Amino acid sequence: MKLTFLGATGTVTGSRYLLDVAGRRVLVDCGLFQGYKQLRLRNWAAPPFDPRDIDAVVLTHAHLDHSGYLPLLVKRGFRGRIYCTPATFELCRILLPDSGFLQEEQARFANRHGISKHRPALPLYTEQDAEASLEFFETVRFNDRFEPVPGVDVVFRRAGHLLGAASVQLRTTAASITFSGDLGRPDDPLLRPPASPARTDYLVVESTYGHRTHEPADLEAQIGDLIRIVHGRGGTVLIPTFAVGRAQLVMLLLARLKARGAIPDVPIYLDSPMAIDATQLYRVFASEHRLSAEECAAMCRVATLTRTVEQSKALDHLDGPAVILSASGMATGGRILHHLKTFAPNPKNLIMFTGYQAGGTRGAALVNGARTIRLLGQDVPVNAPVVQLESMSAHADADELVAWMRRVPEPPRHTYITHGEPAASDALRQKIERELGWRVSVPDYRDTVDLV
Ligand SMILES: [Zn+2]
Repeated sequence: MKLTFLGATGTVTGSRYLLDVAGRRVLVDCGLFQGYKQLRLRNWAAPPFDPRDIDAVVLTHAHLDHSGYLPLLVKRGFRGRIYCTPATFELCRILLPDSGFLQEEQARFANRHGISKHRPALPLYTEQDAEASLEFFETVRFNDRFEPVPGVDVVFRRAGHLLGAASVQLRTTAASITFSGDLGRPDDPLLRPPASPARTDYLVVESTYGHRTHEPADLEAQIGDLIRIVHGRGGTVLIPTFAVGRAQLVMLLLARLKARGAIPDVPIYLDSPMAIDATQLYRVFASEHRLSAEECAAMCRVATLTRTVEQSKALDHLDGPAVILSASGMATGGRILHHLKTFAPNPKNLIMFTGYQAGGTRGAALVNGARTIRLLGQDVPVNAPVVQLESMSAHADADELVAWMRRVPEPPRHTYITHGEPAASDALRQKIERELGWRVSVPDYRDTVDLV
């Protein structure tokens, strides 16, 4: 078995691993690169393999940095099956066409305003390309074994990071390898915790927060305090949020705060058609989260849903204070850009980030204190305070990652650290060597290793 690292090396984006196994080629994840331009350019370059030679894809979860390249893979000739859990498929049905639509929108916007160096600016792929890729999906439940190619036995285990998110183990008669996927936190208020990993010869583990320990924090109280303060000065709380996962967690906490009268009766808006659709999936996949039917209903009810563009635009002309949740979570695109343009210049508002901000994104610039940001072809001053609630992360911190690894019944022959900025990956490498005494390394882009 041969493993080639084709993404998520030195970055949290572009997860793609190529396995040459039993005479076949299997991709584990097929994500988009996001953030720094030199990374994003990889999306446009020919992939370092021929998509027609790939026999199957095994997908850990629906986030675009793991799934967002699939429409291009299919467009460029892939004709195998894409295996994932049922919830991941339902989320991909929402996320991938939206990703295509947004790219078409960006190309249209760039052409209309002449802000692209490319004439005409083209989308990476279209909504229709994304719809076409959905035909290749096949779903498998957690813990059910399947064979994506002959001689390779695969199983998904719950990763607790997002609805449907899985760690995945692939086994041949010769060796086994486990990909952690993105690992959630053991005590997430919304999702059930990650399952224990099984014995494995090789391990590929994420390191988003490999250099951090999340402060134990009462998130509900923190958010309540911030909303009261901003409401008191007549401002709006703008929450850039991942449409799937973080949006629902924020809504859950807001519903609890409202229920116990801990925040004023401020209007709350969920301004993302994608997040609205994703929220409905929490009713369908009730076994994956911790909420009762009543709590789930309260979470869904807490916000006014704005689907149309007109409704979204109206939020920028509201009379009084409000709380607005809108995508995307790293402010790389979507309706949040228009809201930032409206609300960022006024110091009475607050911009509240609730998830990891990849280097090179507007979100990272804002949490690092940028005083102006480039939005829709304009420089916009940032006078509103910006906060980041890091403990709200959907990713395990360094201690939680190591605690998960301790549950592997015996040390793997080798562990590879991916899906982190260089400082985070290297910190986790040192921590694993120190605390577990395992053989471990941080691979580079396009490194290949023989797993024997
Ligand atoms: Zn993820």
